Amino acid sequence: MAAQPTQGAKPRKKTIRTIPQRRTPAPEQDPQVRARNFDEVSLGYGLEQALVEADRCLQCADEPCVRGCPVGIDIPGFIRKIAEKHLHGAYDILTDTNLLPSVCGRVCPQENQCEGVCTVGQPDTGLEPVAIGRLERFVGDTAISEGWANVPCVEPAGLKVGVVGAGPAGMACAADMAKAGCEVIVYEAFHEPGGVLKYGIPDFRLPNEVIDAEIRKLEALGVRFECNTLVGRLFTIEQMLSEMGFAAVFIGTGAGYPSFMGIPGESLAGVLSANELLTRCNLMRARDFPNHDTPLQPGRKVAVIGAGNTAMDALRVSLRLGAESVHCIYRRSRAEAPARLEEVHHAEQEGVVFHWLASPVEILPAESGPNKGGVRALRCVRMELGEPDASGRRKPVVVPGSEFEFECDSVVFAIGTNANPILGQTSGLVLNKRGYIATDDSLATSIAGVWAGGDIVTGAATVIQAMGAGRKAAKAMKAWLGLRDSDAIYGDHHDRGHGTLFGIAREEHGAARVRLA
Ligand code: FAD
Repeated sequence: MAAQPTQGAKPRKKTIRTIPQRRTPAPEQDPQVRARNFDEVSLGYGLEQALVEADRCLQCADEPCVRGCPVGIDIPGFIRKIAEKHLHGAYDILTDTNLLPSVCGRVCPQENQCEGVCTVGQPDTGLEPVAIGRLERFVGDTAISEGWANVPCVEPAGLKVGVVGAGPAGMACAADMAKAGCEVIVYEAFHEPGGVLKYGIPDFRLPNEVIDAEIRKLEALGVRFECNTLVGRLFTIEQMLSEMGFAAVFIGTGAGYPSFMGIPGESLAGVLSANELLTRCNLMRARDFPNHDTPLQPGRKVAVIGAGNTAMDALRVSLRLGAESVHCIYRRSRAEAPARLEEVHHAEQEGVVFHWLASPVEILPAESGPNKGGVRALRCVRMELGEPDASGRRKPVVVPGSEFEFECDSVVFAIGTNANPILGQTSGLVLNKRGYIATDDSLATSIAGVWAGGDIVTGAATVIQAMGAGRKAAKAMKAWLGLRDSDAIYGDHHDRGHGTLFGIAREEHGAARVRLA
């Protein structure tokens, strides 16, 4: 059972001096054990730990954490509800803005967002920031285990809206349009919805059951998913708008097209992209081979090029698939690695070997032996950091005469992705020079009635940014379709003044909180 609200509880006055220095630890699987299984690494908070951590929040008036969140979640509000043991209230506040609290609590780069600007964690305090992500996950997981789903009663609008791509951007747009009374169909190329959450991020970081539970909530809102449907091949966006009766379309197709470096040896057996490795392992269940019929042979000694989240996932998946050793090769230093700090830390704990300031220039073939035709080694150069580049990070520069060979039998590229070109061929759809869909500020594309958002507009970004884009596009779509925007109509609801669809809908329009089976 969920905790009951504490009647009349008011947060007591806290000051920096009364707050425990360390954030409440979340239990984790032992690194030696977990490095060989796919079970979740972090086990999350229980109620007791969540209450202790919620009590570390200062409830400060200027709320820097809210500004640090790309979608402006009322963070002090949901934490206060936890402290009051009013978990339903915390869930309502979270889901006003964020469709997927269990997902974001696990995978958002909080250290660069809400937690990075938390008053408690500022350098002059000597304290660790409030563990906002862990608290968010706790509330989201409680809602899943209790089967909560807020389903507003909406008048059917008599309009059909199509969404292309079932990743976080598409799901967020679909939810808002369903809540506005539209019939929403989401077309997904893969055989399961979820986007990168399903095919990219492995179970030990984000279990599939969590994503499935969130998808069931969308289905409870009336959203229909049609998988194994590659839009642009089976039918086109033009056909959706003309022959198929869609009043508006949202494109959230992500940026899953892998990049390679263009160095010699990339076509050797044993060289693959991180997206292929992860999709085979996660979505196509190669990790359960032969129970599932997707083969995936990890190398004995695997080199992964890159140090973003995708690289960390590829490294840790390779370890779990049975590689003897896995090596991260990155041209900058640890400080510039784009992966979430926690993922780098977990990878180090599990025994991943990091080779900072190194970059491959050639993949060398095995000329003989059992691996003939495969990979024998990487030829690499050492790098040093020069002046800052356009991204503000110091540019890596080759150290002259520093070439060396690094023996390995498998190479995985995790150096970024590009827009998938299929929908880019839609007539009248303007792309930018990098091949991503061009939009205006409201995320409207060059085709009337078509919006786009998420990685297909920004290039590879984050889950929360993709969801924010899906919601932003839905808002513009509603205005264009002449539908009332619930947020704008209902105005502020919560005592901190943040607008809500669910809250008001429940109280004034007879919406139901349903329990999912
Ligand atoms: P996607 O999640 O890519 O979803 C797009 C969907 O559209 C896919 O399911 C695709 O199959 C489908 N699709 C594509 N073309 C078509 C078509 N023509 N017809 C029908 N369907 C189509 N972000 C974080 O915040 N934290 C992390 O820890 C993190 N880790 C990551 C790890 C990996 C391995 C990767 C690859 C990314 C990670 N990211 C992380 C980034 C984050 O997952 C993405 O920014 C986010 O998923 C983008 O959402 P999206 O909805 O735009 O696209």
